[in-house]
Amino acid sequence: MNIKTKRFLLPENEIPEQWYNVQADMVNKPLPILHPGTRKPLTPEDLYPIFNEACSQQELNQTDSWIPIPEEVRDMYKYYRPTPLVRAYELEKALDTPAHIYFKNESVSPVGSHKLNSAIAQAYFCKQEGITNITTETGAGQWGAAMSYAAKAFGLELAVYMVKVSYQQKPYRRSIMQTFGAQVTASPSMSTRAGKDILTADPNCSGSLGCAISEAIELAQATPHCKYVLGSVLSHVSLHQTVIGLEAEKQMAMAGEYPDEVIACFGGGSNFSGITFPFMRHKIDGSHKETRFIAAEPASCPKMTRGKFEYDFGDESGYTPLLPMYTLGHNFQPANIHAGGLRYHGAGTIVSQLLKDKMMEAVDIPQLETFKAATLFARTEGIIPAPESSHAIAATIREALKCKEEGKSKVILFNLSGHGLIDMTAYDMYLAGDLINYSIPDETIEKYLKEVEPLNK
Ligand SMILES: *Cc1c(COP(=O)(O)O)cnc(C)c1O
Repeated sequence: MNIKTKRFLLPENEIPEQWYNVQADMVNKPLPILHPGTRKPLTPEDLYPIFNEACSQQELNQTDSWIPIPEEVRDMYKYYRPTPLVRAYELEKALDTPAHIYFKNESVSPVGSHKLNSAIAQAYFCKQEGITNITTETGAGQWGAAMSYAAKAFGLELAVYMVKVSYQQKPYRRSIMQTFGAQVTASPSMSTRAGKDILTADPNCSGSLGCAISEAIELAQATPHCKYVLGSVLSHVSLHQTVIGLEAEKQMAMAGEYPDEVIACFGGGSNFSGITFPFMRHKIDGSHKETRFIAAEPASCPKMTRGKFEYDFGDESGYTPLLPMYTLGHNFQPANIHAGGLRYHGAGTIVSQLLKDKMMEAVDIPQLETFKAATLFARTEGIIPAPESSHAIAATIREALKCKEEGKSKVILFNLSGHGLIDMTAYDMYLAGDLINYSIPDETIEKYLKEVEPLNK
């Protein structure tokens, strides 16, 4: 009898002992991050006032390919790692595709997304350095939820600025954070100068990640023994997420396959980096030159497909250093799509360099296509995906249907970055026909990018 294996499970002792730092192996390193005042390349010490020291060093480390994962962090990873790798037979059948589709299921973490992989690490390093309070921002609430749990686990006090539109759309994510003991404020708020400035200019502002970041950094700088933590975009966050791809690499070997394409949704790039960088190292060393890496971003926030490679701020008020990245401009205001975690104006510096060097590709996907893909995935594989992850599913379906057209089989691996059980309002609206696609005219994109030009003079 031919019993097909659907789930590929690694034993607990196969949790990676090191994170993979792709920066060390890249042929063209990311351009330096610049101090906004002096325009000099940033040193780790420049980051110490905002971030913990370990993460500041990881951020700028371009020499060590492997960075040890502290034992305490690995112990907490064991609560939910290794996560399963699953062959999506039922989805393949529904699409009638010759492609082999696999997904790495990061939705099984206690908070329902990949975000915990970095939250645990960042909370650990803060604790090690005697920090007592941390601040952060959250879009859809996934990062806030992960950080709230991780902060509590390491005995840290956490204040979260939650983008106002998500605060209203996703009240249960707020309750989750509060249940873990975090203090949650809707952003923009009147509690910071950055928030006040934005609300004064536009009292109805529904918020953005860029604005929430400004508020969180401001509070961290005004509070003793307090640091700021970020859940995406930065290189140390991507580093922590590489446990996803390192496990997936071993699991694909168990399945006797190697991916032709690796796909992930893209907000600031952490889950994309996490699943792709370990495979990218084999493209860099020439052993798997042909592997394609595809980032799936929303058509309403298309920084990689329609943005420009420029120096820009990571936040709306210009508190962060200048980052060399694909950006839509730090004042870009994305539409209120339900994939809140993808509403960010820029891409991380590593991924931006990789895209520039054509080591990877990006596609943008309209909102309705993502929900159609999500619904098919739910009905075939039994998991309701996060609206963010649905972008990866939609991109995977496009590729699988191409295989069918061309009569070619391919191995496609995508990252299921989270489940959507707290996003049912969005599904309700989709099922009722109340969701729409947003398209952005070129003039709008040009307008916001114009505001970035002076930074690059
Ligand atoms: C936050 C989030 C994302 C987007 O963030 P990245 O850093 O681009 O990975 C994607 N999926 C889920 C489920 C998220 O919570």
